[in-house]
Amino acid sequence: MRHIAIIGSGPAGYYTAEAAQKQWGEEVRVDIFDRLPVPFGLIRTGVAPDHQSIKGVSRRYETVALSDNVRFVGNVSVGSDISIAELQGLYDAVVLATGAPHDRPLGLPGADLGNVYGSAQFVGWYNGHPQFAALDPDLSCRTAVVIGNGNVALDVARILAKTRTEFAGSDIVAHALEVLQGSKIDRVVILGRRGPHQIAMTPKELGELAHLARACPRVDPRDLPEEGADALLEPGQRKSVMHLRSFAAIPEAHRQDKPIEIEIEFDFYAAPRAILGEGRVEGVEVERTRLEGGRAIGTGEVYTIPAGLVIACIGYQTSPIEGVPFEESAGRFANHGGRILPGLYCVGWARRGPSGTIGTNRPDGFSIVERITEDIGEGAGKAGRAGFDALAETRGLKVVTFRDWQKIDEAEIQRARHDSPREKFVDVERMIEVARK
Ligand code: NAP
Repeated sequence: MRHIAIIGSGPAGYYTAEAAQKQWGEEVRVDIFDRLPVPFGLIRTGVAPDHQSIKGVSRRYETVALSDNVRFVGNVSVGSDISIAELQGLYDAVVLATGAPHDRPLGLPGADLGNVYGSAQFVGWYNGHPQFAALDPDLSCRTAVVIGNGNVALDVARILAKTRTEFAGSDIVAHALEVLQGSKIDRVVILGRRGPHQIAMTPKELGELAHLARACPRVDPRDLPEEGADALLEPGQRKSVMHLRSFAAIPEAHRQDKPIEIEIEFDFYAAPRAILGEGRVEGVEVERTRLEGGRAIGTGEVYTIPAGLVIACIGYQTSPIEGVPFEESAGRFANHGGRILPGLYCVGWARRGPSGTIGTNRPDGFSIVERITEDIGEGAGKAGRAGFDALAETRGLKVVTFRDWQKIDEAEIQRARHDSPREKFVDVERMIEVARK
């Protein structure tokens, strides 16, 4: 029998569990730990609330979760409730699937001013992550600056621009919906330090901006490279750039026809240099850039965008765990093909950094299980889940099981608004209380 502990119940964790089941069938026991009492990580608290079809993938994880040889062990923090060394004593392999839940620091003067947030915070807020539910951003200003040209920047800009009606069918949490409804923002500036050809935005997500009820994207045609140069881009990127070209071609007359209340403005070749303000953000100092060998080089031309809200969507990093080698510059665990130390592995964003789609984690999960197979043979007769249960009992840990989660799930569905699939609980104690009923 092989005993595997997976830390993190997001896509990387569940795909690894699925791969372990396929590889060893009845000859494996998998425990999936999560510090929250609810599973699915990024699917629940990262994927945009108005992208329900993407969230549907969790049904696939449910099939894995409900098999006898896989357990969800929620509300257990690895590093504080139990150490990595203890887990290694109990399980043949410990796989860190902890994702990249923290913001990469902006590292600019003024980045700590009020109403300046990283996307992990802001997305966590509107998605009801218990850690960020109390964020309370102030949306009473006119201009928001979103830093970064990736898909998260698009999610944030779109959420800031949607009307109440456009949130129908989404599971955006009530506290965020209320604040967004009172928002006074009428201009969202998306800052890209490089140009349209260098965006990390995928076509479907970019295309959505053209179909918003009261908002309209704006691209300055002078920022677009010669059209012929698009031929050198890979097809997906070319499609994304085509969207930017269509935004640049929206005639002013159309803008006047449609009651546009919010402009979503792309500012390319624009590197943020400082966040300005006294106590809270009042503007962003930006330097115009040009590209040199694909890199953004400052031109010395500096200007200020007056803004009362800044959200930096510049990527995420993994949280270090004591005793686990960490690669600071890349913000992930130091590893060779997923191996960190004997018996200790990482997968998904914790292995490769925050890139790729949810589906990218599936092959990742399968490849780590192949490596584990090479390393652990048939298992070393460790205590596995029975050993963990004994330890949890002595420590008084309030473990939340998958069945418990199903009670939370059901209660969230029951208390949903009329046009929403669920109203999430955002408080850990409340979740545990519901699970214990
Ligand atoms: P990302 O794709 O890596 O984009 C980060 C952006 O931030 C880049 O445009 C980068 O510019 C910019 N940036 C980095 N440091 C900066 C700095 N100091 N100043 C100014 N700009 C800076 O990251 P992400 O948007 O957080 O997305 C993470 C992953 O999740 C991606 O794989 C993404 O596709 C995925 N995701 C997918 C969806 C979806 O499919 N619907 C939704 C959300 C997220 P440079 O290119 O110049 O470095």
